[in-house]
Amino acid sequence: MNPSHEILKLVEQAQSIVITSHKSPDGDSIGSSLALFHLFKKWNKQVRVVHPDPAPAFLHWIEGQEEIIDFERNAEKAKQALAEAELIFCLDYNEPSRVGDIMQPFLVEANAQKVMIDHHLHPADFCQQVISDTSASSTCELVYKWIKEIGHLDDLNEVSGAAIYLGIMTDTGSFRFPSVSSFTHEAIGDLIRRGVKHFLIHEAVYDTNTVDRIKLRGFALSEKLVCMNDIHVAYASLSDAELNRFHYQKGDTEGLVNQILGIQGIKMAVLFVEKEGKVKISFRSKGDYYVNELAKTHFDGGGHAYASGGISSETLEKTVEKFVTFVKDFIPKA
Ligand code: 5GP
Ligand code: MN
Repeated sequence: MNPSHEILKLVEQAQSIVITSHKSPDGDSIGSSLALFHLFKKWNKQVRVVHPDPAPAFLHWIEGQEEIIDFERNAEKAKQALAEAELIFCLDYNEPSRVGDIMQPFLVEANAQKVMIDHHLHPADFCQQVISDTSASSTCELVYKWIKEIGHLDDLNEVSGAAIYLGIMTDTGSFRFPSVSSFTHEAIGDLIRRGVKHFLIHEAVYDTNTVDRIKLRGFALSEKLVCMNDIHVAYASLSDAELNRFHYQKGDTEGLVNQILGIQGIKMAVLFVEKEGKVKISFRSKGDYYVNELAKTHFDGGGHAYASGGISSETLEKTVEKFVTFVKDFIPKA
């Protein structure tokens, strides 16, 4: 049996299902989690979504978001859900460490059967059933494909469809990255046919900036941007104090790194953000520039060839210095 039908069989056999995803939720992790949440509810399953941390405000509009149990605010309930689960879905991540130190042991030790649906490179071996396709635009696209393969597309509706649309839209930079295929567009067309109001999702995600957020981004681009034009690299960094100046809220720097990549001639963009004594780094690239090895080798991270992330425990200045020193090793030789 192919994995799609094996996974359906596991769902049919399980009463209690938990859906998990990675730390620092994004459109794809929230979208894929809630799409399956709504689908399994429709199938009368006892289903819960357990995430490491809460969704950023710009994703609060999505239906079902308020039902997500997160370890940061509700650890006891989250632990109980994982311990009781017969089946655990691991969505949009390739290794258990991606759920963060606090949640990881409870995920790993849970007795449940585990199913991975993911599009990141190098899936670790911790799930009994795996759908891993690194060429897919998003986990949401893989969730859609799974539902199609098991013949249940008619169980999708405007609400679950919107969740899938959200993840495909956000992981593809609104349908523009090379990972977008004709299948991606066919899936989107089908979702719109099923009642998804695509324009409302774009508005909810992209047209809900606060004045502080716009000003923070303006500040980063006008005051903090450094362009290394000779090697086609640009970066910006934001310190804790700078974030506070603009009353930073989770999600305020989301997508900022893509704006930097939008500078003419730039092939690699990096954003350094100081958070709780650490530095979170976002890498983006295009063409013959790849960022995942750089993130993995020097910044304890990884991800996709053109979109990666990492973390540093050194100061913001030291982290940027280290980047400036090592980035040259990851520039394609002319
Ligand atoms: P972002 O810049 O949006 O935080 O992350 C971009 C991509 O990089 C994510 O989709 C994820 O694949 C990957 N990523 C981000 N942070 C980490 C990290 O700390 N470790 C690993 N392995 N991958 C990360
Ligand atoms: Mn994803």
